[in-house]
Amino acid sequence: MRRVWILLAACIFASSSAAQDQDFSKVQMKVSKVAGNVYMLMGAGGNIGASVGDDGIVIVDDQYAPLADKIQAALKGITDKPVRFIINTHYHPDHTGGNEYFQKQAPIIAQDNVRKRLESGGGGGNGGSIHMDFKPAPHDALPIITFDHDVTVHLNGEDIRALYFPAGHTDGDSIIFFPHSNVVHMGDDFVTYGFPFIDVESGGSINGMIAAVQQVISQLPPDVKVIPGHGPVSSLDDVRAYLGMLKETRDAVQKALQDGKTLDQMNQAKLLDPWKKYSGEFVTEDIFLETLYNSLTGQRTGKLIKHN
Ligand SMILES: [Zn+2]
Repeated sequence: MRRVWILLAACIFASSSAAQDQDFSKVQMKVSKVAGNVYMLMGAGGNIGASVGDDGIVIVDDQYAPLADKIQAALKGITDKPVRFIINTHYHPDHTGGNEYFQKQAPIIAQDNVRKRLESGGGGGNGGSIHMDFKPAPHDALPIITFDHDVTVHLNGEDIRALYFPAGHTDGDSIIFFPHSNVVHMGDDFVTYGFPFIDVESGGSINGMIAAVQQVISQLPPDVKVIPGHGPVSSLDDVRAYLGMLKETRDAVQKALQDGKTLDQMNQAKLLDPWKKYSGEFVTEDIFLETLYNSLTGQRTGKLIKHN
């Protein structure tokens, strides 16, 4: 239970039923301008990106359902123009909880697998100590426009492009580019809370996450502003450092696997200790080791014995 509590306290990831137990009444929506016509809203759950201009508002993600009124009020504080589209970076409820509310105003766009997973509900987790069950989302919360590879929304003088990256944080991740404003929203393929959560039970993988981050870095100008899935606006150098950590930890576990080591032997050898500054409340060193092990072996049962 403590683990679950930590998850909620960190406001990172919660099942929809657990989210209802969380007290959202004290959450304040912090609005900041990122660059060009793009703003960021921080409350609880994933960061919201917002393109604001003459044509209206396009938002990326919508946090938790109980925060929808606050999100709406924060947007009203920027402009009186209407919401025109909502884009979901992936299906997790801390990024899609406001879908039902906002789809009364404008259509939701997401990659095909986001709709599938919201519709069916099911399990998410790292194949070890983290596991969450998600209920099927309400009908009106399902994205009504879906795409396979990419889609572009031409509003506010911007070409807002959602590009699909398979099998990273989940199997339905999009990264959203705002090229004229020189901003990118990376969803949960990039977070600043330390080791990332890779939802291997929802088709995520370490190698997919590395490929996504690497490809995004190669496409972006050096002075781009990066909105992470969680955490403050970051630079391309921050993303590079994160990519370095992903590759190094992946390589360390891959080598240990080649040497025939078990998960518990890797843990006893404190394999990820050189990167322990990334160990967070949510994804600790142990949990990230489990995640890498499960992702690289294709196992869904690698759980360290010391966890309950
Ligand atoms: Zn997520």
